[in-house]
Amino acid sequence: MSKIIDGRLIAQKLKNNLKTEISNLKKKYREVPGLAVIQVGNVAASSVYVKAKTKSAHEVGINVIDHHLDENISEKNLINLVKKLNNQINVNGILVQLPLPNHINEQVILDMINPDKDADGFHPLNVGKLSINLFNDENLLIPCTPYGCLLMLKSLNVDLEGKNAVVIGRSNIVGKPMAQLLLKESCTVTIAHSKTKNLAELCRNADILVAAVGRPEFVRGDWVNEGAIVIDVGINRIEVKDEKKTKLVGDVNFSEGQLKASAITPVPGGVGPMTIACLLRNTLTAFKNNLNYNKSG
Ligand code: NAD
Repeated sequence: MSKIIDGRLIAQKLKNNLKTEISNLKKKYREVPGLAVIQVGNVAASSVYVKAKTKSAHEVGINVIDHHLDENISEKNLINLVKKLNNQINVNGILVQLPLPNHINEQVILDMINPDKDADGFHPLNVGKLSINLFNDENLLIPCTPYGCLLMLKSLNVDLEGKNAVVIGRSNIVGKPMAQLLLKESCTVTIAHSKTKNLAELCRNADILVAAVGRPEFVRGDWVNEGAIVIDVGINRIEVKDEKKTKLVGDVNFSEGQLKASAITPVPGGVGPMTIACLLRNTLTAFKNNLNYNKSG
């Protein structure tokens, strides 16, 4: 039976460290990091995420500046708000909760965020830095979900160098940055996607298997190499058979995967809490980068 990687526990440890660091910086500089959170409209899942992120930010001592906007706000007005926050000194991180309504081009908005305040690590400049910087750089703003996955892998204290890693999914927010992070750790990385042939066969060669597909229980037990580490990014809500309720499942069939993997993340309680903790880490990193800039300037 495999070890279950407890994302809640690892996230809590990370948050405790962030809290201590923020408290020490506050004593020294009389300032705390500020995170501006922009939510447009009332998509239920977005409200849940924003609430969870705000709660966690408060827990570690980050100041949250909340902007909950009407779903009919124009793209121009949203851009103006981002521009204002880009120049606001008490704002170190800007988070735009996705998805945005259809009349707003998400990429246009994300590209407007000052890269130094890019709490999600989605700005092209930060994506570029991640891909050209071969060595670990603690100043980088890194996409939160894949960074959380990497920290979970590292919590196992296994040597990642030379391991075969298969990432299923090539999205800009999970699959691609996940592959970059694993490459930095000197894994041999394969990115699989919807057009990949012989996916199951490919997965069977993986020492590390990351599933970021968005399909409930897509990865079956017989795709998992004996002893592999499985990181399940998926969050899918499904109906429970014969019952009038729903539940969350990942992209991996957990009960099957558990029989083969040496370690596996659960859903919920795996990658999700790590994503939030890494958002807070990015906000603190942006704050510290700004302090260093001001000191050297
Ligand atoms: P996405 O839809 O942008 O990308 C899905 C990827 O899966 C695509 O690159 C596609 O090529 C690939 N894919 C689709 N069908 C496939 C198939 N049959 N075979 C192989 N590959 C296939 O999704 P995303 O934003 O990357 O998110 C993926 C999953 O992770 C979703 O379930 C999402 O809810 C979840 N997610 C979780 C967190 C978290 O904090 N835990 C954060 C972000 C996303």
